[in-house]
Parts: sequence; structure tokens; C-alpha cells
Amino acid sequence: MITRRRLEYELVKHVVGPATLRFDTLRGELKRRKKKPRPDSPFGPPLEAAHKLKELMSLHYLAGRYADGAVPVAWVTSGFPVEFLRPFGFHAVYPENHAALCSAQKQVPELASAAEAEGYATDLCSYARCDLGSAFTGKTPVGRLPKPDLLCCCTNICQTLLYWYRALATHFNVPLVLIDPPFVYGKAKPHHHQYILDQMEELLAEAARVSRKQVSLAELVEVMHLAREGTALWGECLDASRNRPAPWTGFDGFVHIGPIVALRGTKECNAYYRLLRDELHDRVKKGIGGIKNERHRLMWDNLPIWYGLRELSTLLAERGFNFVCTSYTNAWAEGGALVDPSQPMASMARAYSHVLLNQDLKNRLSVLERLARTYEVEGAVLHSDRSCKPYSVGQIDLKDRLQKALGIRVLLFEADHADPRAYAKEPAENRLTAFLESFA
Ligand code: SF4
Repeated sequence: MITRRRLEYELVKHVVGPATLRFDTLRGELKRRKKKPRPDSPFGPPLEAAHKLKELMSLHYLAGRYADGAVPVAWVTSGFPVEFLRPFGFHAVYPENHAALCSAQKQVPELASAAEAEGYATDLCSYARCDLGSAFTGKTPVGRLPKPDLLCCCTNICQTLLYWYRALATHFNVPLVLIDPPFVYGKAKPHHHQYILDQMEELLAEAARVSRKQVSLAELVEVMHLAREGTALWGECLDASRNRPAPWTGFDGFVHIGPIVALRGTKECNAYYRLLRDELHDRVKKGIGGIKNERHRLMWDNLPIWYGLRELSTLLAERGFNFVCTSYTNAWAEGGALVDPSQPMASMARAYSHVLLNQDLKNRLSVLERLARTYEVEGAVLHSDRSCKPYSVGQIDLKDRLQKALGIRVLLFEADHADPRAYAKEPAENRLTAFLESFA
């Protein structure tokens, strides 16, 4: 029998939510039409797909408010093989994506302070402090996050996640499943994959227990196909920036990454990236750039600075600079090709261990070199992120090697991806401006 809570969830997700958000988009569109475009704006026309992105992500969070008690809810790390959870009917919440949203809405200082007041050190990743603060206070810019029935952690991007999720497991008193891929030096060994496979089997058993549902291998394979297609479509969107001018900016890419992180393995995610890809291809044909006057092409390494996207993108665009590729957005386009639905479990073990942050520095260097060559950049900015140690360690070596191997200018830029209290805005912007002026 369908419960009242389930009925509410389905109504919000499939009827009321989409209709309300569509109406909001149309109202916003009317307002925008009345506004005259700023002739002095350094940016190209805004992407039409951005409206759809807003609807899609807002619906995800809106439905989430009604998810607990209606469907099983899992909180998952961004590198977790979420594909496995979809056929069980889980509503997946990504705390990292939520923390990025909190940062963009300038709410991290308040939320992180709540975690710090409970004894969490300011050296801990700002995503973790923000989300723990949100869990402790119940405050969030999305109205409400559903309480998890299951916590799913994969340490293929860092070990911080394990301690963070253990704290969540204690707080919510729910089970935690862990997938702990061994760090890859060169190539992973067969016993590494076996170790991950064993953990994936445990995950499937726990997901079945919590959701009270059994799923077939065919259902898992179907979701893998969707996830593989989604990452390929995302890759095509990024590839569009090989053209001159690039039809969008690296900052746009940071914003449009939402669905491949939070909705990977769903039809909605893939439909969205088809729409975005087609629009980007159309802009390429018409010669429309993400910025009006693309004079220099750069590469960005590490997470974005979520609270400073607008200011930094304007600073660059006004001087004719565009980040045409970023290692962060590229990371979401790479793993999909390793997923082989004809060998579902084994290929998933391979794909989820070969992610950027689970591989050695040599691999990082080769990825950055490949991106720099493919997108024909003249320089790179390596964001030395106070919070994200695994992404930032080794950047001094990477800087030297990139300069030597490619003869490009490289800047080490110190900030924090989510917490503005760890960002010295004025000196940082002065350094960035001086770096840009060196291209004159
Ligand atoms: S330390 Fe880095 S990889 Fe780990 S959760 Fe924070 S941002 Fe993500």
C-alpha cells in the first residue's frame, strides 16, 4: 500500500515541483526580457540551458524535503558508485554538492562555525565542517535535507570523508557502508580490484536490506549504461571548449557539473547534458564565446572557489582570459569510459579506483599536460586549496614540471574552496592580476 508520505514525495517530484519550477522559470524569463543587456558586460550571452539546470537541481532538493519516510535515503560521497543505489529506489543526497551550494550562497561561515563550536578543527575540510554544522543545526539554504537511512562513503578522493561519515553515522544513528579503494601507483593490481569488488558486494547486500528490495543484475547494468552515457555527454560539453572562442567559461563548467555529480545514472541527467551540448555546439557554429573577447586561454587545477565565482570570472573576462579547461570538471568525464556493462562489477571496481585523486602525481601531471595541449592553453592556475590537502599536495612540483614540459606560465593561487574566512581576497586578487598582466 502506498503511504501518504510516499504520495506526497511522488506528487512533488513528478507533478507539483516541475510545474512550480517551470512557472518560476517563465516568470524569471519575462523579467529578464524587460531588462536591457549590459553593453559593457565582458561575457557572452548567458547559456539558455542554465534555466533548465536551475529547475533540475531545485527539483532534486525540493523532492529531497519529502524523501525520508517515503523512499530509502542515502547520503553519498561524490566518488561513490551511486549507480548501484538507483535501482533500489534510493533518493541520493550529496553532502559535498550541498556544501558547494551553501558556499555559493555565502552560508559556510555560519554553518562551519556550528561544527567548530562542537570541537571540529578549522583545519578540517570546509565541506565537512559546513555539512556537519548543517546536520547539527538543521540549517540549510535548500529548506531541509532528508534524514539518511544509509551513509555511503568511498575514500577514492580522500580519507577525510571516512571520519566525516563516521561522525554522521553517530549523529544520525544509521549504518555506514565503506568502499575503500587502495591508492593506485601506476596501475592497480588484480587483488586491488578484488578487494573493491568484495566491498561492492557488501554494499549491494546492505542496500537490499535497508531498501527491502532485491534488484537484478540487468537492472544494475541498465543504470551503468545511463551513467556511462552521462559522463560521455558531459565530456562532449567540455570538449566544445577546444574551439576558439570557447563557447562557455570554466566557471560555467563548475556550475553545470551539478547533474553529473548529483544525478549520475538517471535519464534526467543525460537529457540535460544533451540539451547543454547542443546549445554549446550551436554557439560554436555561430562563433559565440563564453566571454566576448577571448585573448588568452588558461587551465585551472583543483576545486573551484565557490563563493568567489562571480568576482573571479569577471576579473578574468574583463582582461580577455578564459579558463577553457579544468582538471576538476574533466575528472567527471573520465571514469565513464572505463565502465563496461558487459563486465559490470569488475569494470566498476576499475573505474572507481582510477579517479584523479586516487592516483599518483605522475598521473596528475600527465592529465594536466594532456589538457593543456588539447585545449591549447598558454598558462595555468593551480588552486592551492587550504581545505583539500589531497588535491593540493604536490602542486609545487606540478608547477615546475608544467612550466618545464610545456613552457607555459603557471601560478599557485592560495584560497579555500568553500570557506571565505580562509581566503585573503585582496592579496590573492593582486597576485592573480599581476599574473594576467605578465601575458601582455
Ligand atoms: S578534503 Fe578534498 S576531496 Fe576530501 S571532501 Fe574535502 S574537498 Fe573533497
